[in-house]
Amino acid sequence: MPQAEFGLYFHLPFCLSRCRYCHFNSVVYDAPLEARYAAALLGEMNLGAGTPEGGRVNSVYFGGGTPSLLPARRIAVLVDACRGRFRLADDCEISLEANPGTLSPEKAALWCSAGVNRVSIGAQSFSDRELAAAGRAHTAAMTFEALALLRKSGLDNLSLDLMLGLPQQTRRSWRHTLEAAAASGVAHLSLYMLDLDEECPLGTMVREGKVTLPDEDETADLYAESVEYLAGCGFEQYEISNFSRPGRRSRHNLKYWRREPVFAFGAGACSFDGRRRSMNESGVEEYCRRIESGQNPEAGGETVDDARALSETLFLSLRLTEGLDLDRLAAARGVPLPEAYVAAIDEFCAQGWIERRRSRVRLTVPGMLVANEIFQTFV
Ligand code: SF4
Repeated sequence: MPQAEFGLYFHLPFCLSRCRYCHFNSVVYDAPLEARYAAALLGEMNLGAGTPEGGRVNSVYFGGGTPSLLPARRIAVLVDACRGRFRLADDCEISLEANPGTLSPEKAALWCSAGVNRVSIGAQSFSDRELAAAGRAHTAAMTFEALALLRKSGLDNLSLDLMLGLPQQTRRSWRHTLEAAAASGVAHLSLYMLDLDEECPLGTMVREGKVTLPDEDETADLYAESVEYLAGCGFEQYEISNFSRPGRRSRHNLKYWRREPVFAFGAGACSFDGRRRSMNESGVEEYCRRIESGQNPEAGGETVDDARALSETLFLSLRLTEGLDLDRLAAARGVPLPEAYVAAIDEFCAQGWIERRRSRVRLTVPGMLVANEIFQTFV
């Protein structure tokens, strides 16, 4: 079924070093493997498995890993390949994730001429103590340098990722980070809570008592205060973790929460065509090997049935501050919502976690802090 508009995602899993909390599909940069991987990405596009013939691409996202670490021509070649293989909208949002310390004026100029028009920078913190404790390979000064360099190259649609709950973080240091980010002039901010996998090095250090994390209740308070602070600075919150200046929401990321189609390439990349989800082989070398031997890199997939589609719609829409219109959802499905869901929503309203205005429901700020608990009900 050709889709009118869809997004493309490229997973570029190479990083300078591994951050202590990393649970993403990433490996330390290795030039020969990276060159092999870049060829495999083009190979996967040429295989064309599962991608639509019609329709129009209105977002392309280079995520990782650290896409800015790669030679800039890689990005230019991939954007060209997108243009050759798909019809790109004139106003296509083309985003790239970057980490401070991996940019240069030459790279930024090449990204710009290739059509990249949005850069998301993994700042995480403006406290060097916190950055060092998290094993990040940059300092706060390097984030400011990255912002200046990108602006000089003509890239002004910039976003910063910040992280709450890092070791060494205090109310004061977080406030400093938030104020620096808001004053930096970026169009978009993402505030993530540290999500620690027990198996990662930081998880082990915490378990062994070598590192302590900030108190969870204190971090929750900081999140709630940040929502208020950013609103006062003119940032609109549009998703639990995402805030933007008017008109600068991430078109690509909205597709995930709205269950719109995104076709993804690379190791571990996940695609959704509106009905079916699939995931590629996650090992970088195995992914390359499969493409080189002409095999489909898909490691698994499933068609999303009606019950699952409903549960996804509920918990993904509730991530957005616009929430969701229950009457409209029931009308679109042609049947009322299951009683269990209606009862759960009533219960969450009574607890003050969900607010209801006519048939539209949305999370409150306290609800956002227990979002995972709420979403479990709909899974
Ligand atoms: S930069 Fe991101 S993907 Fe790379 S190691 Fe750090 S957290 Fe993981």
